Amino acid sequence: MATFADLAATGRVLVDVHLGSHTTYKLGGPARYFIELQSEDDLPVVAEALAEDPQPVLVVGRGSNLVISDSGWPGLAIRFGLAFADIGLGPEPDGFVTAGAATTLPRLARETVNRGRGGLEFYVGIPGSVGGAVRTNAGGHGSETADWLVGARVFDVAEGQFRSLNPADLDFKYRSSSIRPTDLVVAAAFRTVPIDVEEGQARLREITRWRRDHQPGGTLNAGSVFRNPDGDSAGRIIDSLGLKGFRVGEAVVSTKHANFFEAGPEATARQVYDLVQQVKQRVLEETGIELVPEVQFAGDFS
Ligand SMILES: Cc1cc2nc3c(=O)[nH]c(=O)nc-3n(C[C@H](O)[C@H](O)[C@H](O)COP(=O)(O)OP(=O)(O)OC[C@H]3O[C@@H](n4cnc5c(N)ncnc54)[C@H](O)[C@@H]3O)c2cc1C
Repeated sequence: MATFADLAATGRVLVDVHLGSHTTYKLGGPARYFIELQSEDDLPVVAEALAEDPQPVLVVGRGSNLVISDSGWPGLAIRFGLAFADIGLGPEPDGFVTAGAATTLPRLARETVNRGRGGLEFYVGIPGSVGGAVRTNAGGHGSETADWLVGARVFDVAEGQFRSLNPADLDFKYRSSSIRPTDLVVAAAFRTVPIDVEEGQARLREITRWRRDHQPGGTLNAGSVFRNPDGDSAGRIIDSLGLKGFRVGEAVVSTKHANFFEAGPEATARQVYDLVQQVKQRVLEETGIELVPEVQFAGDFS
């Protein structure tokens, strides 16, 4: 069986690929091994190589919830290629929509609305992929993935097997699911409801406008840094402590929304990590509230 070095020698796997360019923060070092999956045939190849040559696995979607360590990822980073970006609409009346892991959420929102299917409009402002949305139970504007998902097709790369999971298997909670690092979400199915196309498009415009007015668009960030504690908002708490503009090096708490931390052009992943730790500590000391990060840190931050 082939090791990753063997696969690298054939060009199927790449070595020392800069991961930052696959994330919205644009930070972090290289992945030791990197594969962009071109078809489902690649999945068993990866599973066999992992059985022969175990490596820590990191699935990277649109990287909009990820901070990669400056030292990079010490194992295999996996990305789903364009072959996994198809959207399929089932026949009425069930209105099920299927989408590949690499489908971007804004595209899913727009295409479903344009075809008279509603429910997924909240995805228009979330710059992630379907795979990432299932893993993180992405949500906003009063909806979350768990409300609309009817099933996910997952490849367990540790066992080399496909599994079909229903929402009960996924144990969705606020911004989390039971998907493990070695579970690759290959595709997902969502229910939708009939919608008037013009009304749907107006809703998309309203959500986009709200985002533009309240969030620091056009900057390097990964969305909300902390989960909202019960009955409160992390942004409100951080703002109430006067921490807007607080910085560690080139990483700074946004002056527009205190739960968004922006990276300057020279920022390091370490600075973002330290800023998150320092804000968390200040909030704990001054309010007794222990904020839990929503962004995921991948690699070594010790
Ligand atoms: C400006 C901005 C606004 C945002 N607003 C919101 C918001 O309103 N609501 C919200 O919930 N989030 C928001 N986010 C965060 C982010 O977009 C979501 O968490 C999104 O679902 C992440 O998807 P992704 O493809 O970028 O995942 P990544 O960041 O690439 O990965 C996130 C996690 O999912 C895993 N993963 C990715 N793809 C797969 C796959 N195919 N199979 C298995 N695991 C996978 C990764 O390993 C990682 O653990 C925002 C981010 C930004 C930058």
